[in-house]
Amino acid sequence: MERFDYTRAESVETASRNAAMSADAGASPVMAATQYIAGGTNMTDYMKLGVMRPTRLVDLNPLALQGMARIEAGPHGLRLGALVRMAEAQDHAAIRRDYPVIAQSLMLAASQQIRNMASLGGNVLQRTRCEYFRETSWPCNKRDPGSGCAAMDGVNRQHAVLGTSDACIATYHGDFAQALIALDAAVDVTGPAGRRTLPFAALHRQPGDSPHVETVLAPGDVITAITVPAGSWTRRSRYVKVRDRDSYAFALASAAVALDLDGDTVRHARIGLGGVATVPWRAREAESALEGRRLDEAVAREAARIAFAGARAREHNAYKIPLGQRTLVRALLETRDMEI
Ligand SMILES: Cc1cc2nc3c(=O)[nH]c(=O)nc-3n(C[C@H](O)[C@H](O)[C@H](O)COP(=O)(O)OP(=O)(O)OC[C@H]3O[C@@H](n4cnc5c(N)ncnc54)[C@H](O)[C@@H]3O)c2cc1C
Ligand code: SF4
Repeated sequence: MERFDYTRAESVETASRNAAMSADAGASPVMAATQYIAGGTNMTDYMKLGVMRPTRLVDLNPLALQGMARIEAGPHGLRLGALVRMAEAQDHAAIRRDYPVIAQSLMLAASQQIRNMASLGGNVLQRTRCEYFRETSWPCNKRDPGSGCAAMDGVNRQHAVLGTSDACIATYHGDFAQALIALDAAVDVTGPAGRRTLPFAALHRQPGDSPHVETVLAPGDVITAITVPAGSWTRRSRYVKVRDRDSYAFALASAAVALDLDGDTVRHARIGLGGVATVPWRAREAESALEGRRLDEAVAREAARIAFAGARAREHNAYKIPLGQRTLVRALLETRDMEI
């Protein structure tokens, strides 16, 4: 690991201003010399591997005392401070009862030790686990813009089939984000120019021809909170994750589903897909295909086929298309059958 300075954030505004000043104009925030750290489980991993080489780390944890570690659950929805630990949110009684898809997506992620340390803000901003991104001797457009993509014709079993480009096919690996995108969450951000709120669905960018620009955040931006609106669908919600082994593994395919039902007929469906796409993926065409229909297995399969209609596979990851479809069918039927 290279040498770096370590400072503790005194206020979100000063942290943000100072971090923005150290960045090159127009640079992607992940390439800036100053980086934030929260739980550190993703950042220190990539510093040790030489994938990230910040010269200054700003620890956001002192901001916990300024409301960034609070969970508020009320009639209008949920507010999750960005410094709330994954384990704390997964165990919160109101989240387990009223937003089960959120609790499950967190519980099925990583290990208990990592969840005790990792923050929700850091979780949604975790970087890909693409093996070629993690190993600095390989070309990678995300780590070293313009160098090429070793995964394209390499071992791409873990890689994405939705939202890919000719420059990058890396999967977005997180779980929690699929629940957030399905539930229309929003993100509160404080940046050098002040505060703003953006839809969670607008946070992550598909790779296009600049895979190193992963989000719409600007240098210095701090995520302060994630908000989730209340709705009749949040209690009937579920996260299904398929992985190589039963614990402690990233999703090969996952589906976050929230349903508003009239009997077995779908008033509205909300679907987030994980493990198969370059960003947290909202399957809106599949949602439309379900609306007004009685949800049985045939209808669920049709929606799943529509969800993957635009999928593009490479040599080793074609299995993700039928696997992703089956995962979604299972999630839809299990959500329909929930007792609430
Ligand atoms: C072995 C292993 C297995 C894992 N398995 C899974 C899994 O199955 N599912 C899953 O979802 N995750 C998994 N993870 C990832 C883990 O959940 C993330 O590492 C963790 O959530 C990141 O949170 P953190 O607080 O430690 O982030 P940090 O490492 O502190 O930060 C991550 C990034 O976010 C930025 N950042 C952090 N907080 C903020 C903020 N408030 N505002 C702006 N920028 C910020 C940092 O600058 C950094 O770029 C796994 C990790 C490991 C090591
Ligand atoms: S898929 Fe993306 S992250 Fe992986 S090697 Fe290619 S450019 Fe890099």
